[in-house]
This record gives sequence, structure tokens and C-alpha cells, in this order.
Amino acid sequence: MSLIPFDDREGHIWLDGKLVPWRDAKIHVLTHGLHYGSSIFEGQRVYGRKVFKLEQHTSRLFQSARLMGFEIPFTEEQINDACRQVVEAQGADDAYMRPVAWRGSEQMAVSAQKSKIHVAIAVWPWPSMFDPEIKMKGIRMDISRWRRPAPDTTPWKAKAAGLYMICTLSKHEAEAKGLADAMMYDWRGLVAEATGANMFFVKDNRLFTPHADCFLNGITRQTVMDLARARQIEVVETYIQSSDVSGYTECFLTGSAAEVTPVGQIGDWKFEVGNISRTLMDDYSNFVRGKHRI
Ligand code: PMP
Repeated sequence: MSLIPFDDREGHIWLDGKLVPWRDAKIHVLTHGLHYGSSIFEGQRVYGRKVFKLEQHTSRLFQSARLMGFEIPFTEEQINDACRQVVEAQGADDAYMRPVAWRGSEQMAVSAQKSKIHVAIAVWPWPSMFDPEIKMKGIRMDISRWRRPAPDTTPWKAKAAGLYMICTLSKHEAEAKGLADAMMYDWRGLVAEATGANMFFVKDNRLFTPHADCFLNGITRQTVMDLARARQIEVVETYIQSSDVSGYTECFLTGSAAEVTPVGQIGDWKFEVGNISRTLMDDYSNFVRGKHRI
């Protein structure tokens, strides 16, 4: 497979208030965000030229910045407008959009109080996070040796670049074993999430998902819980031990990129792509395109 590098594409990227040619959207190597992880971002999908839950994603972007101790130098409305402008400029019908904000180059040390905050927004085609054929059979997952950190060790509610260090390590270790993703436990050893998506399980027609108390409470997670309740499916947010997992019959991931992705296997645990997973996958895919209402 030939990869088209992300810095060598056609079109425009919104950078600090204006659209710039894609290949000119550059930063300097001495950038605080690159060295010290002072960078936060969003991942949102465009369906039929409309960003799904745009306002909610933008609010989370601003919240992530505040949690990292900086203010985005635009209003939420300006960022929403900028996102819409990028969709139009790129003619993006179905796509993935990445707003990102980071500390610049004014200071190159741990302290960076005077650094300028930069913001960029890019959009590109990304049909499915997982191979569509494998997805329908349920992806196979590894069990990561990395754990989601305790809430007092990191600004865990932020969608911050630094929190993805262990996600990339986990995902690479999974891929080396021929697996699509990895389940991560949290600092207590409870089931937490995947490397870029939340997790759900099914037992006796009820939906179970871990309390999002040390990892991202995904916008897709919240949407899928609403979709399930609208179908009279009971949703249980709970603490999930590894010993509970063998009792579940279905499992799926949720995320803006992953959408609803059935899981066929985690380690030695096997799951079927059952009714509830299929129903919620369909409901979600119709809901994001305005074809299903709740
Ligand atoms: N957890 C992690 C680590 C993620 O990267 C994501 C994707 N943003 C999610 C959960 C799901 O969040 P959302 O549904 O808001 O995309």
C-alpha cells in the first residue's frame, strides 16, 4: 500500500485564522508542543458536508486547552465557522477532521507561560478506521500491558497529545501480533477502553460500559448510549473486572473515527457480532446522516 504523506496533499489547511496551502501549513522544529506534549486536538467526522456534533467537539477542544493551562485565541464560534470553512474549501463530503492547538516557539523549557497558542484545522478522507471486511466479522484485539493512568497523574479529561503515548505503543504491539487494536486496563486493573475508542459489552440484552472516570467520555459513547435507550436497551455504566469479560456475548468499540466497530476477540475471549451490536451500528450510521431520529 502506498501511503500519501500527510504533509504532501492538495488543498488547504486552516492555520491561525486563515486558509493556507496544504504544504505550507508548517511549524518550526523548536515548538513547545512537539517537545513537551503541550498539544490538544479533536477528531470529528464529516457526513454529507456536515460535521457531526461540531459544537460539542469544539467545546471539548476548548475544555482540553483549559485543562492544559492555555486559552485558545479564538471563540468557539470562530472555530466552528473555521471548521465549516475547511469542509467547503476541501469539498469534503464524508471525511475526518482534525482541529489541533499547541504551544509555539517563544519559550523552549518546561515553563512556557508566554508561548503563543496556535490552532490548525485539517480535513481528509478516511472511510473506515478498520478494514471494512474485518470490521463486519468483529476485529481482534490484544490486551495492552499499558494502563490508563490514575486521574491524579494526568489531565485525563483532556484530549491531549501526551495521553496517546501509551496508545501508540499498545497499538503497535497489537499490530505486531496481527491484531487490530488493544484493550487497555486502567490504573486499578479495571477494563477501560481501546487505544482510540471506548468499549461496550452485551449480556442478556443489556449494554455494559465502564465508568469514564479516568479516560475520555467519548461523544460517540454518549450518542450510542442515547441510541440504545431509545431502543429500550438498558445501559449500565459500571466497573468491569477482567473476570467479568468472559460473561459477555458481544463487544464493540465506539469513537468518532471507529464509529461503532464490533469486536470478535480480545485475547482469548470471543464475542459474536450479535443483534445489539448490529442494531447500534446501523442506528449510529443512520443517525450521523440524519436518517434516524431519537
Ligand atoms: N478514547 C480515546 C483514547 C479516543 O482517542 C477517542 C477518540 N476521540 C475516544 C475514546 C472516543 O471519543 P469520541 O467518541 O468523542 O470520538
